Amino acid sequence: MRLPVVVGFRLPEPVEREFQARLDARFLDVFPRDEGGLKAALDGAAALVVTPPIKADAWLFEHLPDSIKAIATYSVGLDHVDLAAARRRGLPVVHTPDVLTDAVAETAMLLLLSAMRRATESIVLIRSRQWQGWNPRQIIGQGLDGKTLGILGMGRIGRGIAARARAFGMAIAYSNRHRLPPTLDNGATFHDTPETLLPICDALVLACPLTPETRGFLNARRIALMKPSAAVVNIARGDVIVDDDLIAALAEGRLFAAGLDVFAGEPRIDARYFDLPNVFMLPHIGSSTIETRLAMGRAVIDGLIAVLSGSRPPNLVA
Ligand code: NAP
Repeated sequence: MRLPVVVGFRLPEPVEREFQARLDARFLDVFPRDEGGLKAALDGAAALVVTPPIKADAWLFEHLPDSIKAIATYSVGLDHVDLAAARRRGLPVVHTPDVLTDAVAETAMLLLLSAMRRATESIVLIRSRQWQGWNPRQIIGQGLDGKTLGILGMGRIGRGIAARARAFGMAIAYSNRHRLPPTLDNGATFHDTPETLLPICDALVLACPLTPETRGFLNARRIALMKPSAAVVNIARGDVIVDDDLIAALAEGRLFAAGLDVFAGEPRIDARYFDLPNVFMLPHIGSSTIETRLAMGRAVIDGLIAVLSGSRPPNLVA
C-alpha cells in the first residue's frame, strides 16, 4: 500500500508526478492555518511535507492529527521547523541536504558576479532603451580574479561556492564555529571569529543557517569592519542581515554592492532595496532548477518511505 502523504504546497508537475507514482500524495493549493481546515486537509495522512513559507511551529505540531507519523521539509534549511515541538510529538523530520548544493552555489555566483559587475544598473540602462552605445566610462565594475572571498558558513553550500569562486581566481577565507579538516577546506583560510574575516573580504557570502546566533549577524558594527569596496551576497536567510544597517551602508557608499536571494519578511521585502541601484535581487530562486526540484522531491519521498518503515535515512534530521 502506498503511504498517504499531504504536501502542503504545489510542486512542478514532473515532481508531483513522481510523488504520485511512489506515494498516495495530495497537494494543497493553500495551507490551512485553522484547526478545522488543518484537520480536513490532513485527514488520514501519515506524513506532512512543508517548505520554508509554511511554518511548522508549535501551533502546527499541537494540532496535527494522530495519523501523522513523520514530517518532511522540501528544503535543507530548518529555521521554519520547531524541532523541539517535533521531538515532543515524537515525529521524525527529514530534509533535503546535498541535492540542492550545486544549484544554490551557482545562484551565489550569479549574485556575486551581478553585484560586482553592477548588473542591475546595466539591465535598467539597456531595458530603458536609453543606452547611448559603448563607452569606456560606463558602468565600471570590479573583477573577481585575485580578490578574497569570505564565506560565513563553510558547509555544503559554502564549499560549493568556494570551489566555483576558486575557478574565478579568488582566494577563499571562511568562518565557522568549527574549523574544517584539511580534506574539506581545500586551502581556505580559517578565521575563528568573523571579526577577523570581515576586514579582509573583497566579497562576503552569507551561507550559514538562520539560528539564534546568526540572526542579525550583518549589522552596522560588523559592516563597519568591512572594506567600502566590498560586496555582500546573501543566499542564507534574510534575517541574517539587519536591513536598516545594510541599506544605510549601500546608500552611503560604505559597501560597494549587494546580491540578495533571500529577504527578511519575504515576499514583503524592505521597499528601500528597490531604490538602490547597487543591489541585485532575486526572488529566492537559489535551488530553482528542474534537476534540483526533482532531486529534492526524490530525497523527500525516499526519506519518508524510509522513516515510516522504521529505518534511518541519511537525510533524517538528527
Ligand atoms: P550546512 O552544510 O549545515 O552548512 C552550514 C554551515 O554554517 C556549517 O559549515 C556550519 O559550521 C556553519 N555555521 C552554523 N552556525 C554558524 C555560526 N553561528 N557562525 C558561523 N558559521 C555557522 O548547510 P548547507 O546545506 O550548506 O545550507 C546552509 C543554509 O543555506 C541553509 O540552512 C539555508 O538556510 C540556506 N539555503 C538557502 C537556499 C536558497 O534558496 N537561497 C537554498 C538552500 C539552503 P559550524 O557548525 O562549524 O559552525
